[in-house]
Amino acid sequence: MTVVHAAEMHRFRAKTQELAFLVPSSLIVELDPEARAILDALERGPRLAEEIAQTPEALQALRELARVGAVAREDGVLPTPLSALARPVEPPPLSTLVLNVTNSCNLSCRYCYEYGEDRVAPSEAPALMSEETARQAVDLLVSQSAPRARLQITFFGGETLMNWKVVRPTVEYARRRALDSGRFIDFSLTTNATLLTDEVIQFLSENRIGITVSIDGPRQATDAMRVYSDGRGIYDVIAPRIKKLLAVERSRPIGARVTVTSRTLDLRSIFSHLVGEIGFDEVGFAPVTTAQGRDYAIDANGYDRLLEEFRHLTDDFVAAALEDRYVGFSNLSDLLGEIHQGVTKAYPCGAGLGLLGVAPGGDVGLCHRFAGSGDHDFGHVATGLDVEKRRAHLERGHVDKRTDCRTCWVRSLCAGGCYHEAQVRFGDRFKANLHMCEWIRAWTALGLDAYGAILEGNPGFLERFDERKAG
Ligand code: SF4
Ligand code: SF4
Repeated sequence: MTVVHAAEMHRFRAKTQELAFLVPSSLIVELDPEARAILDALERGPRLAEEIAQTPEALQALRELARVGAVAREDGVLPTPLSALARPVEPPPLSTLVLNVTNSCNLSCRYCYEYGEDRVAPSEAPALMSEETARQAVDLLVSQSAPRARLQITFFGGETLMNWKVVRPTVEYARRRALDSGRFIDFSLTTNATLLTDEVIQFLSENRIGITVSIDGPRQATDAMRVYSDGRGIYDVIAPRIKKLLAVERSRPIGARVTVTSRTLDLRSIFSHLVGEIGFDEVGFAPVTTAQGRDYAIDANGYDRLLEEFRHLTDDFVAAALEDRYVGFSNLSDLLGEIHQGVTKAYPCGAGLGLLGVAPGGDVGLCHRFAGSGDHDFGHVATGLDVEKRRAHLERGHVDKRTDCRTCWVRSLCAGGCYHEAQVRFGDRFKANLHMCEWIRAWTALGLDAYGAILEGNPGFLERFDERKAG
């Protein structure tokens, strides 16, 4: 007599198919009527295999469900830890360094973590990275990344272009160093676009540097928060520069990053302005991570509205995908990419794994938001990495260590959320971002519904979409 139980899963429907997202393997399986009947029977608790599989077809379905891990013998119903799937034994080789080439900015955006209470790095840190420090960072990346064949440097700020005189030679130096060591290196840069000149645009284009522009939408939305220190909005300064950039640089997609506040929740009109009128290829929305209490913070009603807006943008994405067209809603395309690749995360992001951030003075931190914060530093570009600190971070940061996440069905895709947000909200980067869990689960369910609809209606799109993301 064998007692079986259903494993953790999230069931969902496409147009005609029924599917299940299995946890923690992130496997998606199609359920035929026999499999559905078995899982329905197991919803009320463990059952005898002989009772729920009485026909040869049902027995076959039960075996198939057991093979993919959707049912298991009843010898304990503890949630499966992710450890066996994804725990690194040692800190992995580096793949990406985010260089905070400056802490300075020519703007005074009202929600900026760099200048507000959300800042975790001390403000007395050097404002500009020197060329020497940037070279040392490149050397560190090259020396600590073997055997990886692809490396990445991301330039970040403050306003990145305020230290253009260091960005430019660093690209040239890193390219030479990567070539000498037989590796490929890719670059990306985030900017507020106020300092985009013809020379900068030309260089970015010639060097195929991936560009993300921080902009919050049409004039009114952007100028509500993104302002010079005298309160002037920046939209009229940046719109023509961005259009010029988009006219010159067509070798790779250019993305807009929108910080969403309680005042800018009309995401569909923001999206349509940025794609339709400005010409961006991709738009990604990031809810403001500031503590509650400020008038622009998003409250519970705001998060409901955010989800509703994401739902509409998702519907548009799916409708286009069924006609084999791509719509650049990057929150969804990132999620679909992870679902399609069957990603199982033990950590929420690359920070501390293959990715580290470098402060202007050369301190190496968990990511760009922690770099230079003392407590969270993992070494210095001149003296190397602190392996013990990296190891300790990976030990504590593993999703299995986050009690709140252990039974959550999205943990293989979420793994606890942003360390920086947890540090700001709870004073502990290892805390799960519990204030967002319901929202994250609802958004992941929406993403799975979209995935199912495309899988059923135009599976070829997912293959090409995968190539697009890789390219
Ligand atoms: S942070 Fe919340 S949503 Fe994310 S895995 Fe943990 S419990 Fe789930
Ligand atoms: S910790 Fe947060 S800010 Fe840093 S890389 Fe991860 S998700 Fe991004």
